[in-house]
Amino acid sequence: MPEYDVIVAGGGISGLMSALTLSKHGKKVLVLEKNSIVGGNCNSYSVDGFQVDTGPHAITHLREGPLRRLMDEYFTYVPVFVDYGHYYVRTEKGLTKIPSNVKDFVTFDVLPRKDRLFLSQALTKALTQMTFGMLDGEQPIYDFLPKGLSKDTYDFVNAIAYFLSGKSMRETSVNRVLYGSSFVRDSVSEDIFIDAEPEEPPSTSYTSMITDKLLKYQISSHLSTLSRLATNKVAYAQAYPRGGLKSFLNAVLYSMPENVTIKTSSNVKKILKMDEKVIGVGTDNRSYTSDIVVYTGFMKSLPEFIDLPGDYTEKLSRIEQTLSLTIWLGLSEKMKEFDYTGSEVWFKDGAYWAMPISNYDACIAPKGKQLVGFTFVIGDRNNIEGEKKKALDLILRAVPGIENKIEMKHYQVTIPEKGAVTINGYFAGPRSPVPNLYLAGTDTDNRSMGITRAGYSVLELLNAMKEDKKL
Ligand SMILES: Cc1cc2nc3c(=O)[nH]c(=O)nc-3n(C[C@H](O)[C@H](O)[C@H](O)COP(=O)(O)OP(=O)(O)OC[C@H]3O[C@@H](n4cnc5c(N)ncnc54)[C@H](O)[C@@H]3O)c2cc1C
Repeated sequence: MPEYDVIVAGGGISGLMSALTLSKHGKKVLVLEKNSIVGGNCNSYSVDGFQVDTGPHAITHLREGPLRRLMDEYFTYVPVFVDYGHYYVRTEKGLTKIPSNVKDFVTFDVLPRKDRLFLSQALTKALTQMTFGMLDGEQPIYDFLPKGLSKDTYDFVNAIAYFLSGKSMRETSVNRVLYGSSFVRDSVSEDIFIDAEPEEPPSTSYTSMITDKLLKYQISSHLSTLSRLATNKVAYAQAYPRGGLKSFLNAVLYSMPENVTIKTSSNVKKILKMDEKVIGVGTDNRSYTSDIVVYTGFMKSLPEFIDLPGDYTEKLSRIEQTLSLTIWLGLSEKMKEFDYTGSEVWFKDGAYWAMPISNYDACIAPKGKQLVGFTFVIGDRNNIEGEKKKALDLILRAVPGIENKIEMKHYQVTIPEKGAVTINGYFAGPRSPVPNLYLAGTDTDNRSMGITRAGYSVLELLNAMKEDKKL
């Protein structure tokens, strides 16, 4: 008799939400986390009186996305969310709102007028083609854009591509931009509708009724996509958890029922198999048995833990990642340059994404002070110290006067998502080729980003286990 119904390897937000949901379906769950604390990339901690997060975070799709559904159905406690605010571009002249729709593009005077027109035409063309099923959404943004745009325009598009996928505009697809900037919304309510079960046993007319409903739904969904050319808001249904990112983690932990055991400092070294089925895991000092194992570490590393078919290992090796550097600056006083909620992008002579998180909650910084996180994509993995210096120099150039206000400086080098959404990048999905071994995390699903994507991966895990009659 196995000790647990499910062992979850990895106590990041994907692993913890897997444990929470499975335990609420009655499973006895063990979570094994290799570090001394849980949370992975979803946490906050204190540095010299400032509370930094593991990277600046916007929590997305909160109205009808996967986190909404998970919170409604499984969380006992939910964080208090503060409206996200806006996305801005910083230039030498100050801040300008990032265009959300065609009208905004036309007045976006950060870029040359001719290029703005080209960009809005490209956007209209992409959404129109998508509506009529004619868009090759997997082509790189660079190929889709008209040629001959100015350097500033290419740099701007590149900065947005890096923000949305972690990769350049030559490696980021048109689809990624349309979905990532809320023009197209992959809501979970759509999935719920498609899965809808009839109240009565299926009759012959049920199939035609559901097809008819689905068709109407798809048409209206395409039309609302098109209408967003005029009305879209890039920061649609986004927020920041009051109290910092750890509030989201704490909501999951406080919601956890008693049939979940969490063990930290427990590095899973082996996923154990008998008769071709998974039967548990081995850590440094002992083994644990279970009916099911859910692995939420890096999928690229899965072959180190268990024998897998060669073609599957080859697919996992195609998962791409980005390395990021975040510099948290604790400022001795509030700066007017950071008098906003939301985030800013700098794109000239290098790019950053920045967020003054203490503006959401004054407790995040000591009284009268301010905390801003700046994130960069690391170009040279072999010269992290050089990258840190280059990044700090860029901040000092972009925000004149900040140098004299820096009281605390803290660096984080992280992989934001375990899978970057590039054109040829692979995502593992919730099932592995080994019976009873399931997968969750940001390299198993390519929708949305970060914590929202972790949410999608957990919903897919539940779906797969349900289909396999394991739930
Ligand atoms: C700079 C930055 C900015 C970000 N911005 C956003 C944002 O704006 N919005 C957003 O939603 N998300 C954002 N994210 C991403 C988000 O934080 C992550 O995608 C999410 O937290 C990943 O969760 P995860 O559980 O899938 O992976 P992880 O957090 O990587 O968790 C995996 C866990 O498994 C553990 N583990 C791995 N292998 C083993 C093993 N063999 N045995 C035991 N334990 C193991 C690890 O120690 C870790 O704790 C950002 C991240 C960064 C770094």
